Amino acid sequence: MNESWKVEAWRILTLVVATLLLGTGINNYTLAALFGALIYLAWHLHSVARLNTWLSAYQTTEIPESTGVWGRVYDRLRGMTRHHQQDINALHRRLERYQQTTRAFPEGAVTLGRNDEIELINEAATSLLGLKNPQDLGSPITNLVRDPKFVRYMQDGRYSEALEIASPINRNMRMSLRLVPYGDANGKLLLVRNISRLHKLEEIRRDFIANVSHEMKSPLTVIKGYVESMVEDTSEFGLKWTKALSQVDQQTDRMCRMVDDLLQLSNLETGPAEKPTLVDMPSLIRSVHSEAIELSNSRHDIDLDVDESIYVAGNFNQLYSALSNLVFNAVQYTPEHGQIKIGWHLDQDNYANFSVRDTGPGIAHEHLPRLTERFYRVDTARSRELGGTGLGLAIVKHVLQRHGGSLVIDSELGQGSTFTCVFPAQRVVDRREPKSSV
Ligand code: ADP
Repeated sequence: MNESWKVEAWRILTLVVATLLLGTGINNYTLAALFGALIYLAWHLHSVARLNTWLSAYQTTEIPESTGVWGRVYDRLRGMTRHHQQDINALHRRLERYQQTTRAFPEGAVTLGRNDEIELINEAATSLLGLKNPQDLGSPITNLVRDPKFVRYMQDGRYSEALEIASPINRNMRMSLRLVPYGDANGKLLLVRNISRLHKLEEIRRDFIANVSHEMKSPLTVIKGYVESMVEDTSEFGLKWTKALSQVDQQTDRMCRMVDDLLQLSNLETGPAEKPTLVDMPSLIRSVHSEAIELSNSRHDIDLDVDESIYVAGNFNQLYSALSNLVFNAVQYTPEHGQIKIGWHLDQDNYANFSVRDTGPGIAHEHLPRLTERFYRVDTARSRELGGTGLGLAIVKHVLQRHGGSLVIDSELGQGSTFTCVFPAQRVVDRREPKSSV
């Protein structure tokens, strides 16, 4: 028997002896026993009351002292609270270290809770986003960073790509924002990077390409004019020069196409957003199909499957350029007797998909992520031989970005390729639904 139970046993024994003596004294053992039991009960009730008082303020008051069975209970509770306090201290230390790490982060970091409320902000985030620590803790991030692009990014839930916006406190500062979901309680980490320098360099590069292309356009047009008239009338030149002139003509054509493509790309990148108009996609696709048949010159079987009711809010010329680029590529790269299937449909999310599937050579997986970069070609010699500029897919990507869409490339070497332009539901107008409007 341990010490506290012995003390309790002695206490009960003393009470029994006192009750017996009292019973003998008053000559009534029942009354004495009742009295003894009441005293014992009162002592226990008193101990329960002390325990209750301590429990209601256990963080600030000391555990009461006692002997016997209650002493044992209090000792156990004391041990438990000590362990509990040690755990809390360890957690505090860990949290403090975590906060120090995020504070030392050169990039901005904001931890968001289930309803996008701010839980933690580091110093870099306060200076990039203009958030105040601790005043803004608990407020939804979209109440403080109100850029409509950011609000849409938060709502869309497609966090695989970063978002680029101007800083709310300095319009000249460009920031890249990236949301990283974590844990199973819908938590998110918002990473913020100052990319002003990178943005400036990108701007210089874009301006440089646009200026060079622009400057080259006029001399090229003059050269082309002269070469064309010389090719038309070769009587003045010998056979030797006729061949050379025809090559000059071809190369001038290629350079003109390249300059045009570069100018188109720089317009897509920097030009102001135009007001979208309702584009009759079925008839646009039929025109592209007819041109593809002409280009193919019966070398391919070109199949068309179009949902006649799907229109898109956008820019006709840009869409024509993107879709024809994909279809003409399929015609150019697919060998004779190959098949090309052009499709235009709504998917289950009401996104409109324009797809071009071919039975051509296909593209190895390692090339796919880089295919939409300017001048990236899988087979440079083949592309040049076909008169390609290496800018077609970059143009397609930018046109789709301007329409809020994306390009999906699916290809296996030796198995053909499928290029799909995906247009978001907001851009799609289904003519079957009378209420749709641009
Ligand atoms: P290019 O002017 O060279 O065709 P693009 O940007 O249109 O430039 O295409 C980039 C590269 O992607 C091409 O050089 C080619 O290697 C590859 N490519 C594009 N479309 C196809 C296709 N349908 N089948 C096979 N390869 C393709």
